[in-house]
Amino acid sequence: MKFESVIGNENVKDYLRKNLETNNILHSYLFLGTEGIGKLKLSKEFAKFVLCLKNQEENCTCKSCLCYQGGNHPDFTVINEDGNTIKIEDVRNLTRKNY
Ligand SMILES: [Zn+2]
Repeated sequence: MKFESVIGNENVKDYLRKNLETNNILHSYLFLGTEGIGKLKLSKEFAKFVLCLKNQEENCTCKSCLCYQGGNHPDFTVINEDGNTIKIEDVRNLTRKNY
């Protein structure tokens, strides 16, 4: 995984690559930082790669990638903060969705 479309964040990209290479993928990742540094884009690329059921290439058409591209993959959720907080209702919805 090259993360070519993500500019900067080299330390984070190296960390994620190392996780992939050693097959040491954690159960969750939290991407934090100031706005506009590429957190969302990087997290989405990483998630798509990890969730892929086939060849993990850009134009993969496996079931997982199609769900992901359609915005309805059951194992990927983005919670948008409201100001500096995350609403409890968003967390409850996430919990209901995954269990
Ligand atoms: Zn795929």
